[in-house]
Amino acid sequence: MAAIGHVGVVGAGLAGLAAALAAAAAGLRVDVFEAVPVPFAPQAHIDVVPNLLRDLAALGVGEACVRRGFPYHGLAVLDGDGRLLHEIATPRLSGAPFPACLGMVYGDLLGLLRDAAVAHGARLHVGCAVTDVAAGEAIVTADGQRHGVDLALVASGSRLPALASLPARPMALDELQQQWCHALLPRPPMLERTLWLLGTGSTKAMVVPVDARRAGIAVLQPLGASSTAAAMRATLAGQGRLLQSLGALWKDGTQALVRPVRSGLLEGPWHEQGVLRIGHSAHVLPPHFGQAAAQAVEDAVVLGDLLRLQLSRDELLQAFMARRGERARQVHAVATQAARWDLRPEAATDLPALAAQLAQLVAGPA
Ligand SMILES: Cc1cc2nc3c(=O)[nH]c(=O)nc-3n(C[C@H](O)[C@H](O)[C@H](O)COP(=O)(O)OP(=O)(O)OC[C@H]3O[C@@H](n4cnc5c(N)ncnc54)[C@H](O)[C@@H]3O)c2cc1C
Repeated sequence: MAAIGHVGVVGAGLAGLAAALAAAAAGLRVDVFEAVPVPFAPQAHIDVVPNLLRDLAALGVGEACVRRGFPYHGLAVLDGDGRLLHEIATPRLSGAPFPACLGMVYGDLLGLLRDAAVAHGARLHVGCAVTDVAAGEAIVTADGQRHGVDLALVASGSRLPALASLPARPMALDELQQQWCHALLPRPPMLERTLWLLGTGSTKAMVVPVDARRAGIAVLQPLGASSTAAAMRATLAGQGRLLQSLGALWKDGTQALVRPVRSGLLEGPWHEQGVLRIGHSAHVLPPHFGQAAAQAVEDAVVLGDLLRLQLSRDELLQAFMARRGERARQVHAVATQAARWDLRPEAATDLPALAAQLAQLVAGPA
């Protein structure tokens, strides 16, 4: 079989845009189909952890992320009053000019990936829902058009859309009965790096500087809890001085975005015929340790490497699973364990040890 020349991507979220950039930069023809007319550009933070920054640098957008975001080194776990509980190391994995990590606005990261993919020749079709992926040989859109491709990448997120000829192989999704409520707040001047703030019970918040003026906050809540500004202030009020002062920055009218936490991993290979699932379509990780995003982008980097080798489609799909399958399974287990501890901290809860285990797993590229 001839090498792959044309890739079709279903979904312009993080996984789809990163994969489109990787494939276009490898010299392939790329078409991306996104169901919604205005792509999602969340005004909330993303924590670009060391292995995610390494992979964004490999895709050629690392410097742009550094310019747009707030670089930092090392993260601290504090109690609600601001007392240091643990330091968590953040190794510098991206080479000398880069910081270890950075915070940035999620919508800005999606915009950088989209612009870079388009600059490499990828074509983005918005408001164009895909209804079939025809054995990886064509992408069929809701308007009935058929676009011939050599490989179809399904990057449509955790809920697999009905794709006529793709055998339904649903992923068992574990709803973890928790949600993160995100917002952008003014950056407190003392905030120079990401903080994990542990209140009482299972109240937990994460604050991430995203630029000189702003910081992202994400507060862990029971699934379905209210996310109004008043509710968030009330949640943080009794949790110690630092959490209370962050709550006070949460003004009426602050836009909040709520994300339920789920966990799931597609059993067996992530490909069928000529269709490969990537990102949350194949592995839904809780965002702990930044690995939901990092694993989605790692799919793209590995794909880009393999597409450059001009393998046949079957060879590429096998090589992809060899590099991604077991590694994603191990990282998935660590992130899911951290999410379960958030729900019910156990006597053996040891976040620094779990962070160290994760750091070892992702220290080298996939
Ligand atoms: C605000 C926010 C902050 C986050 N912060 C972090 C963080 O700090 N760390 C971390 O690890 N993770 C974070 N995450 C989670 C991380 O971004 C996820 O890993 C990521 O969203 C998964 O990307 P995806 O592209 O697989 O799926 P999605 O982002 O869900 O994208 C799927 C896309 O496919 C489109 N689509 C669906 N069906 C079709 C169809 N039939 N045809 C065409 N298009 C279709 C959808 O419209 C959507 O645009 C964050 C997510 C959000 C939203």
